[in-house]
Amino acid sequence: MSDVASVQPEREAAVGVWDHEADVVVVGYGVAGATAAIEAARAGADVLVLERTGGWGGAAAMSGGFIYLGGGTALQKALGVEDSPENMEKFLTAALGPGVDAAKIHDYCQGSVEHFDWLVAQGVPFKEEFWGEPGWEPPADQGLMFSGGENAAPYNTIASPAPRGHLPQMADKHTGDKGGGYMLMKPLTDTAESLGVRAEYDVRLQRLVVDESGRVTGVIAKRYGKRVTVRARRGVVLATGSFAYNQEMVEAFTPLLIDRPAAAIEEHDGIGIRVAQALGAQLAHMDAIEVAIFADPQVIVRGILVNGRGQRYIPEDSYPSHIGQSTLIRQHNEAYLIIDEAALEEANGTVSSSAAMRAQPPTWVAESVEELEAEIGFPAGVLQATIEVYNRHAAAGTDPLLGKKPQWVEPIGTPVAAYDLRGRTGGFTLGGLRTDLDSRVVHVSGAPIPGLFAAGRCTSGICAGGYVSGASLGDGSFYGRRAGRAAAAS
Ligand SMILES: Cc1cc2nc3c(=O)[nH]c(=O)nc-3n(C[C@H](O)[C@H](O)[C@H](O)COP(=O)(O)OP(=O)(O)OC[C@H]3O[C@@H](n4cnc5c(N)ncnc54)[C@H](O)[C@@H]3O)c2cc1C
Repeated sequence: MSDVASVQPEREAAVGVWDHEADVVVVGYGVAGATAAIEAARAGADVLVLERTGGWGGAAAMSGGFIYLGGGTALQKALGVEDSPENMEKFLTAALGPGVDAAKIHDYCQGSVEHFDWLVAQGVPFKEEFWGEPGWEPPADQGLMFSGGENAAPYNTIASPAPRGHLPQMADKHTGDKGGGYMLMKPLTDTAESLGVRAEYDVRLQRLVVDESGRVTGVIAKRYGKRVTVRARRGVVLATGSFAYNQEMVEAFTPLLIDRPAAAIEEHDGIGIRVAQALGAQLAHMDAIEVAIFADPQVIVRGILVNGRGQRYIPEDSYPSHIGQSTLIRQHNEAYLIIDEAALEEANGTVSSSAAMRAQPPTWVAESVEELEAEIGFPAGVLQATIEVYNRHAAAGTDPLLGKKPQWVEPIGTPVAAYDLRGRTGGFTLGGLRTDLDSRVVHVSGAPIPGLFAAGRCTSGICAGGYVSGASLGDGSFYGRRAGRAAAAS
């Protein structure tokens, strides 16, 4: 929880002495902050980054490193992947909806190839290798993967499937500690430093400063309990991350995530959103959430997922976060994975980045489906009916009910097991400040708030109802750059 007593803006006239000054003040040194700092510095601004922790990186440096890009990036082309900005837009509009910011999605897809080239130019390395197995991440340093269910129903009927999860190359990778995200952040912060960007650490934003006209001209922060005043001659960029760790905001906007934050850090306490709200900023998609299901996709894909009534509800070859969202949001967080012995053995023999999850044995094992459904506690016949229908079509290699791809459709035999996946989800918040295509924070009146810019997960980016892996580092870096440029020109 944030210890901020008040987020009310302070009048410039009351500030007195400024402890620090810069043209552009960036708050938060994660992916949005680093990209904003680089572009502001390149545009000729003197840039100061304020970071609450003792170093750069944020959640971005701990992340898997997926950056969602496409439309024909150099990496896609090198690997023979056909894609276009229009194809990407069609997919994202469907997969991230309903209610996406259509202008942002269009803008993002049109700018995606250039953004990839820009990342490479900053020193972010990508290995020309595709990983095509189901999973959360590639097991090694492969550079490209399907990361949003592009090749699963219903999306494979809406747009031509193209992998767009671009991963910085990482030797000696440790997921959640030093993964692809670190290999994104290290070159970005090195670049920022080489451009003369200054950083002050252990400095925690408290509130914004405004002049008599209402323009944002600085921030009030704290360092080890002491007040710090920072003047921004041209603009302030908020890049402080999500509100996944602000209990009150989670209760108010995303109650399904109460007690289940994941893929976020405690510093994501919503402060960037709150200080801007105090100036009348508009919010967007505050209910949007990313949801992971904590299970191995290599196992899931070889079985069937059923809800609390023993019924299938999603193709099992879906992107795991779509499975997580569907389970938490539409199935009361109740899921069981049913898999036969032969399929489980096959799954356990595959390479996976989620192999640690395999240490857990199935919750129930039985000689027949009838016995299994009794052990799980389903009413007699429910699971038998589900499996009878599934197997009837699987014998012909099809799944007319949900559209799982033929390569993963096999009749379920015996012995048969079930994993209890109830409650096995967690995630982070995707909503935040409404910003325009120049990352200007929009007031409730519809006009931009002068001097205030934002990017990353304190804003509502390209996601609304859905998610794809790489959307956060993707829109965070894309609109971080815009924020830096716009603030420098302000
Ligand atoms: C394990 C893990 C895996 C993930 N994998 C992926 C992935 O593969 N692809 C993807 O797109 N996303 C992924 N994510 C999510 C992604 O990392 C974040 O959503 C993304 O980093 C958000 O960018 P940001 O710049 O808004 O926040 P961050 O990168 O977290 O940066 C915010 C910074 O602001 C600082 N800050 C906060 N409050 C203050 C304050 N009051 N004053 C000053 N500074 C402050 C924080 O300390 C932090 O350094 C993952 C996250 C985790 C933890």
